[in-house]
Amino acid sequence: MNYYSLNRKASSTSFKEAVNRGLAPDRGLYFPESITALPKSFFDTITNLSYSEIAFEAIKQFVAPDIPESVLKSIIEDTLSFDFPIVTMHQDLSIIELFHGPTMAFKDVGARFMARCLGYFNSNNTTDVTVLVATSGDTGGAVANGFLGVKGVNVVILYPSGKVSNIQEKQLTTLGHNITALEVDGVFDDCQDMVKRAFLDEDLINEMQLTSANSINVARWLPQLFYFMFAYKELHKTHKDIVFSIPSGNFGNICAGMMAQRLGLPISHFIASNNANNTVTEYLSTGVYNPKPSIQTISNAMDVGNPSNFVRIQELYGNNLHVLKSHLSSYSFTDEETKSAMKNLYTNFNYVADPHGAVGYLGAIKHLEKHPKSHCVVLETAHPTKFLDVVESVIQASQELPDQIEAVMHKKKVSIPIHSYTELKQHLLKSI
Ligand SMILES: *Cc1c(COP(=O)(O)O)cnc(C)c1O
Repeated sequence: MNYYSLNRKASSTSFKEAVNRGLAPDRGLYFPESITALPKSFFDTITNLSYSEIAFEAIKQFVAPDIPESVLKSIIEDTLSFDFPIVTMHQDLSIIELFHGPTMAFKDVGARFMARCLGYFNSNNTTDVTVLVATSGDTGGAVANGFLGVKGVNVVILYPSGKVSNIQEKQLTTLGHNITALEVDGVFDDCQDMVKRAFLDEDLINEMQLTSANSINVARWLPQLFYFMFAYKELHKTHKDIVFSIPSGNFGNICAGMMAQRLGLPISHFIASNNANNTVTEYLSTGVYNPKPSIQTISNAMDVGNPSNFVRIQELYGNNLHVLKSHLSSYSFTDEETKSAMKNLYTNFNYVADPHGAVGYLGAIKHLEKHPKSHCVVLETAHPTKFLDVVESVIQASQELPDQIEAVMHKKKVSIPIHSYTELKQHLLKSI
């Protein structure tokens, strides 16, 4: 598969180059040149296929010919080494739990897949690739864990000092080996700005191979389409229209779902469930796309005022607002509404949701009010204990830490303090 840049100034490139670069040289996001639907027989017999078999069929066109089929199979086996259970609340509503991976965030699948692709492409190179990533919390842990020990790849994570949860900080500062955590004196936007500046800095890009590991990278973005297929495998027997409610921030996950639909998956509608960061909600209702600075909320992994993947969604629907609206609805919810949804889920269904999943639940409820014939699937994107303080204070019940989280809590944090871009640059140049 070749990928073109959505800024349309850089030339098309292979999957391998797109993964190695992250962003095209003209700063555009990469997008596949074609999307070929899977045969109907695939969806008719999906119940008989394993997760790995489904994932392999779904992604192989996007990575061929750069990764041979046998290697792709083992990358997928390795990536999907945990479960994706579905909890059915009632006949119209299910939750698919995407948080059973090593860092208990749905980003584990994308990070693990990308790490293995990058490892395959670079393990025999004489110079290492450096993955540079800014995190507001969950990305850092998933990327650190996914890339740990991958030969030929070094990972440098920038995180805002004092602005990530204790659990999140432990997940990204305790691994060592090829993972370095830089603790930035600033907020997330400062980390993001430094990363962007590094990607444009000739002194660095002439000296080293830099790539990104957030959802702009096709190898992190595309595997997220698996979740929609896994949910369909279990739920298509409900014989209802299947609608997904996706708690959205950078819109990578939902855009991957739209790719699954293009592959032929019978999804009847998408709901982008947002917190107070409502750029897309507003766009769908007014037709004006007006990116804003992010607003801090309790569902902080979705505090994004200018979602980077929205250009990919626009591309998929031919920049046609009318067509887009026939596939996508969007709602925005306050922290108070989110908390009452968490309470409601706990009281009525004995289900402990994290704030992101609760926003997804609210979107599903809104949709069902108007479309009672649908079956809504909410993507639960993080384990509730990753947001322990909020969850415990809302539901008034203490939560036990899962083993994956317990294991990092006792490890020693190692981070390097960074106060300016110059310090970041010095660090990167010293590392080669
Ligand atoms: C990253 C993240 C999201 C948002 O996903 P996008 O692909 O950026 O829209 C939602 N919930 C959690 C817990 C996350 O970590």
